[in-house]
Amino acid sequence: LPSVAIVGRQNVGKSTLLNRLTGKRTAITEDLPGTTRDRLHVPMNHAGRDFILVDTGGMENLPQEAIARSVNDQVRAAMKEAAVIVFLVDAQSGLAPLDHEIADEIRRAGKPVVVAVNKADNPRLALHGAEFHALGFGEPMPISAYHGRGVEDLLDRIFELLPEPEAAVV
Ligand code: GDP
Repeated sequence: LPSVAIVGRQNVGKSTLLNRLTGKRTAITEDLPGTTRDRLHVPMNHAGRDFILVDTGGMENLPQEAIARSVNDQVRAAMKEAAVIVFLVDAQSGLAPLDHEIADEIRRAGKPVVVAVNKADNPRLALHGAEFHALGFGEPMPISAYHGRGVEDLLDRIFELLPEPEAAVV
Protein backbone atom coordinates (compact mmCIF):
# COMPACT_ATOMS: atom_id res chain seq x y z
CA LEU A 1 0.00 0.00 0.00
CA PRO A 2 1.18 3.56 -0.61
CA SER A 3 2.32 5.42 2.46
CA VAL A 4 1.71 9.03 3.40
CA ALA A 5 4.39 10.52 5.64
CA ILE A 6 3.55 13.34 8.02
CA VAL A 7 6.73 15.36 8.41
CA GLY A 8 7.36 18.38 10.58
CA ARG A 9 9.46 19.70 13.39
CA GLN A 10 8.58 19.16 17.00
CA ASN A 11 5.40 20.75 18.31
CA VAL A 12 3.77 21.60 14.98
CA GLY A 13 1.01 19.11 15.84
CA LYS A 14 1.92 15.83 14.11
CA SER A 15 0.44 13.67 16.88
CA THR A 16 -2.66 15.81 17.14
CA LEU A 17 -3.19 15.59 13.38
CA LEU A 18 -2.66 11.84 13.40
CA ASN A 19 -5.20 11.48 16.19
CA ARG A 20 -7.62 13.64 14.25
CA LEU A 21 -7.11 11.79 10.97
CA THR A 22 -7.49 8.37 12.47
CA GLY A 23 -10.29 9.40 14.80
CA LYS A 24 -8.67 7.41 17.56
CA ARG A 25 -6.06 8.04 20.14
CA THR A 26 -3.46 5.99 18.32
CA ALA A 27 -0.70 8.53 18.69
CA ILE A 28 0.56 9.95 21.91
CA THR A 29 0.29 13.71 22.16
CA GLU A 30 3.08 14.86 24.34
CA ASP A 31 3.96 18.40 25.25
CA LEU A 32 7.35 17.64 26.74
CA PRO A 33 10.23 18.26 24.34
CA GLY A 34 12.58 15.37 23.79
CA THR A 35 10.04 12.67 24.58
CA THR A 36 10.73 9.42 22.79
CA ARG A 37 7.96 8.32 20.49
CA ASP A 38 7.95 5.55 17.94
CA ARG A 39 7.22 6.16 14.35
CA LEU A 40 3.66 5.04 13.81
CA HIS A 41 2.01 3.33 10.89
CA VAL A 42 -1.75 3.61 10.73
CA PRO A 43 -3.86 1.96 8.01
CA MET A 44 -6.29 4.45 6.50
CA ASN A 45 -9.07 4.48 3.95
CA HIS A 46 -10.34 7.63 2.31
CA ALA A 47 -12.81 7.70 -0.57
CA GLY A 48 -12.21 4.02 -1.16
CA ARG A 49 -8.41 4.21 -1.29
CA ASP A 50 -6.22 2.41 1.22
CA PHE A 51 -2.96 3.90 2.37
CA ILE A 52 -0.67 3.85 5.38
CA LEU A 53 -0.26 6.99 7.41
CA VAL A 54 3.25 7.33 8.79
CA ASP A 55 3.96 9.64 11.70
CA THR A 56 7.63 10.58 11.65
CA GLY A 57 8.26 11.37 15.29
CA GLY A 58 11.99 11.00 14.93
CA MET A 59 13.23 14.54 15.04
CA GLU A 60 12.32 14.96 18.69
CA ASN A 61 14.92 12.48 19.76
CA LEU A 62 17.92 14.16 18.28
CA PRO A 63 20.44 16.10 20.30
CA GLN A 64 20.24 19.81 19.66
CA GLU A 65 23.27 19.96 17.37
CA ALA A 66 21.97 17.09 15.25
CA ILE A 67 18.65 18.85 14.89
CA ALA A 68 20.50 21.92 13.77
CA ARG A 69 22.50 19.88 11.27
CA SER A 70 19.85 17.90 9.52
CA VAL A 71 16.65 15.94 9.60
CA ASN A 72 17.40 12.50 10.96
CA ASP A 73 17.72 9.26 9.04
CA GLN A 74 14.39 7.88 10.16
CA VAL A 75 12.50 10.81 8.76
CA ARG A 76 14.52 10.70 5.57
CA ALA A 77 13.78 6.97 5.20
CA ALA A 78 10.06 7.56 5.72
CA MET A 79 10.12 10.29 3.07
CA LYS A 80 11.93 7.99 0.66
CA GLU A 81 9.27 5.29 1.12
CA ALA A 82 6.36 7.70 0.96
CA ALA A 83 4.04 8.12 -2.00
CA VAL A 84 2.92 11.47 -0.60
CA ILE A 85 4.51 13.78 1.96
CA VAL A 86 2.44 15.99 4.24
CA PHE A 87 4.71 18.80 5.40
CA LEU A 88 3.20 20.15 8.60
CA VAL A 89 4.10 23.70 9.60
CA ASP A 90 2.85 26.03 12.31
CA ALA A 91 0.63 28.99 11.42
CA GLN A 92 1.28 30.60 14.76
CA SER A 93 5.08 30.46 14.85
CA GLY A 94 5.78 30.64 11.11
CA LEU A 95 8.80 28.96 9.55
CA ALA A 96 11.79 28.10 11.72
CA PRO A 97 15.29 27.26 10.39
CA LEU A 98 14.55 23.55 10.83
CA ASP A 99 11.50 23.92 8.58
CA HIS A 100 13.77 25.11 5.79
CA GLU A 101 16.05 22.09 6.34
CA ILE A 102 13.05 19.79 6.19
CA ALA A 103 11.90 21.56 3.02
CA ASP A 104 15.32 20.88 1.46
CA GLU A 105 15.00 17.19 2.33
CA ILE A 106 11.52 17.09 0.84
CA ARG A 107 12.77 18.67 -2.39
CA ARG A 108 15.51 16.04 -2.51
CA ALA A 109 12.94 13.27 -1.99
CA GLY A 110 11.10 14.55 -5.07
CA LYS A 111 7.69 13.29 -3.95
CA PRO A 112 4.26 14.89 -4.22
CA VAL A 113 3.87 17.13 -1.20
CA VAL A 114 1.15 19.10 0.47
CA VAL A 115 1.96 21.85 2.96
CA ALA A 116 -0.53 21.71 5.82
CA VAL A 117 -0.48 24.88 7.90
CA ASN A 118 -1.60 23.73 11.31
CA LYS A 119 -2.94 25.76 14.24
CA ALA A 120 -4.89 27.92 11.76
CA ASP A 121 -7.70 27.83 14.31
CA ASN A 122 -9.22 31.11 13.18
CA PRO A 123 -10.27 31.03 9.50
CA ARG A 124 -10.12 34.83 9.31
CA LEU A 125 -6.45 34.94 10.20
CA ALA A 126 -4.09 33.77 7.46
CA LEU A 127 -0.83 34.05 9.34
CA HIS A 128 2.56 33.84 7.61
CA GLY A 129 0.81 32.91 4.36
CA ALA A 130 3.44 34.39 2.07
CA GLU A 131 6.37 32.50 3.55
CA PHE A 132 4.52 29.17 3.42
CA HIS A 133 3.68 29.87 -0.19
CA ALA A 134 7.30 30.75 -0.93
CA LEU A 135 8.33 27.19 -0.04
CA GLY A 136 7.27 26.34 -3.57
CA PHE A 137 5.16 23.29 -2.73
CA GLY A 138 1.94 24.71 -4.09
CA GLU A 139 -1.02 26.19 -2.29
CA PRO A 140 -0.62 25.72 1.49
CA MET A 141 -3.68 24.24 3.19
CA PRO A 142 -4.73 25.85 6.47
CA ILE A 143 -5.87 23.30 9.01
CA SER A 144 -6.57 23.02 12.69
CA ALA A 145 -5.73 19.55 13.87
CA TYR A 146 -7.10 20.63 17.22
CA HIS A 147 -10.55 21.69 16.01
CA GLY A 148 -10.71 19.56 12.85
CA ARG A 149 -10.88 22.51 10.49
CA GLY A 150 -9.61 21.72 6.97
CA VAL A 151 -8.75 18.12 7.80
CA GLU A 152 -11.28 16.64 5.38
CA ASP A 153 -9.90 18.89 2.61
CA LEU A 154 -6.41 17.69 3.47
CA LEU A 155 -7.53 14.07 3.09
CA ASP A 156 -9.05 14.94 -0.28
CA ARG A 157 -5.76 16.50 -1.42
CA ILE A 158 -3.81 13.46 -0.22
CA PHE A 159 -6.23 11.28 -2.16
CA GLU A 160 -5.58 13.32 -5.33
CA LEU A 161 -1.83 12.96 -4.93
CA LEU A 162 -1.84 9.19 -4.33
CA PRO A 163 -0.62 7.15 -7.28
CA GLU A 164 -3.19 5.33 -9.36
CA PRO A 165 -3.83 1.86 -7.96
CA GLU A 166 -2.13 -0.77 -10.07
CA ALA A 167 -4.48 -2.52 -12.45
CA ALA A 168 -5.48 -5.97 -11.31
CA VAL A 169 -3.43 -8.69 -12.98
CA VAL A 170 -5.67 -10.94 -15.06
P1 GDP B 1 4.15 17.10 17.52
O1 GDP B 1 5.33 17.28 18.41
O2 GDP B 1 4.43 17.63 16.14
O3 GDP B 1 3.62 15.69 17.48
O4 GDP B 1 3.00 18.05 18.10
P2 GDP B 1 1.77 17.69 19.07
O5 GDP B 1 0.70 16.99 18.34
O6 GDP B 1 2.31 17.04 20.30
O7 GDP B 1 1.22 19.16 19.39
C1 GDP B 1 2.07 20.14 19.96
C2 GDP B 1 1.23 21.18 20.68
O8 GDP B 1 0.45 21.93 19.73
C3 GDP B 1 0.24 20.58 21.67
O9 GDP B 1 0.18 21.42 22.80
C4 GDP B 1 -1.07 20.60 20.90
O10 GDP B 1 -2.19 20.69 21.76
C5 GDP B 1 -0.92 21.88 20.07
N1 GDP B 1 -1.73 21.82 18.83
C6 GDP B 1 -1.80 20.82 17.94
N2 GDP B 1 -2.66 21.12 16.95
C7 GDP B 1 -3.15 22.35 17.21
C8 GDP B 1 -4.09 23.21 16.54
O11 GDP B 1 -4.67 22.91 15.50
N3 GDP B 1 -4.30 24.44 17.12
C9 GDP B 1 -3.69 24.81 18.27
N4 GDP B 1 -3.96 26.02 18.74
N5 GDP B 1 -2.81 24.02 18.92
C10 GDP B 1 -2.55 22.81 18.41
